[in-house]
Amino acid sequence: MSNSPVYDKVALIGVGLIGSSMAHAMRRDGVASRIAGYSHRTETLEKARAIGFADSLHDDVTDCVKDADLVVLATPVGAYAVLAEQIAPHLKPGATVTDVGSVKSAVIRDVGPHVPEGVHFIPAHPIAGTEQSGPEAGFAELFDGRWCILTPLPGTDAAALERLKTFWHRLGSDVEVMDARHHDLVLAITSHLPHLIAYNIVGTADDLQAVTKSEVIKYSAGGFRDFTRIAASDPTMWRDVFLNNREAVLEVLGRFSEDLSALQRAIRWGDGEALFNLFTRTRAIRRSIVDAGQDTAAPNFGRSKKPG
Ligand code: NAP
Repeated sequence: MSNSPVYDKVALIGVGLIGSSMAHAMRRDGVASRIAGYSHRTETLEKARAIGFADSLHDDVTDCVKDADLVVLATPVGAYAVLAEQIAPHLKPGATVTDVGSVKSAVIRDVGPHVPEGVHFIPAHPIAGTEQSGPEAGFAELFDGRWCILTPLPGTDAAALERLKTFWHRLGSDVEVMDARHHDLVLAITSHLPHLIAYNIVGTADDLQAVTKSEVIKYSAGGFRDFTRIAASDPTMWRDVFLNNREAVLEVLGRFSEDLSALQRAIRWGDGEALFNLFTRTRAIRRSIVDAGQDTAAPNFGRSKKPG
């Protein structure tokens, strides 16, 4: 594949885990000629400057987007509306505005109205991440072999869409195009609900009176530990995800609560067959995820026996 730049200047609005990983991945394969980054706290800009993944760093978002061919919103989604309004008058005609937010209908609602005529708007969501945040957390391989979902609006310019697809391919991703509402429902079950469950179970364990905090930590390898990894995810980002994907999350949460009640009943009435059947079905799903290359088949997620 050619390593000529897909865009000349790319502006990253937000240089945390996702923004900095995009910068590293762009540099790895010469995807952009110039990378500009914006962050609102000086501390974050200093960290980004020390790592050196951007050609220029700005504390003024309008300076960052000046002359940019691709503008990527990569802050928590709750900040998008204000940022979109600020950058709108400074966007280059013919540029593309995209994002990386974990919800899509709300992004179209908040950003869409601010995008001026002559500028393309193509929302996106890379299905890749970790529980870490900030510029130091980024790495070039984050998107390798992961999906990036694009949710273009009807009438989106075909050439602009192709170019953004090429961009994500060059960052290492496979690309899928989907309707925003469908994206939000799919992600509600595959990502948002699992995070909610993890936040809830870790909170419940923390509140339990009969089991001490030191016992929870000491015996965490019994399953709890894997929830704590997810529950360590960024509070601001996840607050914004739930506030902005309310409908879809409540829909899958309703189904989840019904299924949980059925499990509760099976345990109460000693219905081992119901439990065994469900656990057999779920084991097969795990196998499909490994077969699709979305996780390792190594026992214990490939962790070494002893940490460190
Ligand atoms: P992050 O590491 O916490 O970085 C967030 C960036 O946004 C930082 O540069 C931060 O600046 C900036 N920011 C925060 N609040 C802001 C505000 N009110 N106004 C302007 N800038 C603000 O977050 P991330 O994990 O990269 O997530 C960024 C986006 O990617 C989110 O929309 C999230 O939904 C999406 N996403 C995340 C993951 C994941 O696993 N983390 C995966 C896929 C998509 P300061 O540090 O200067 O405050």
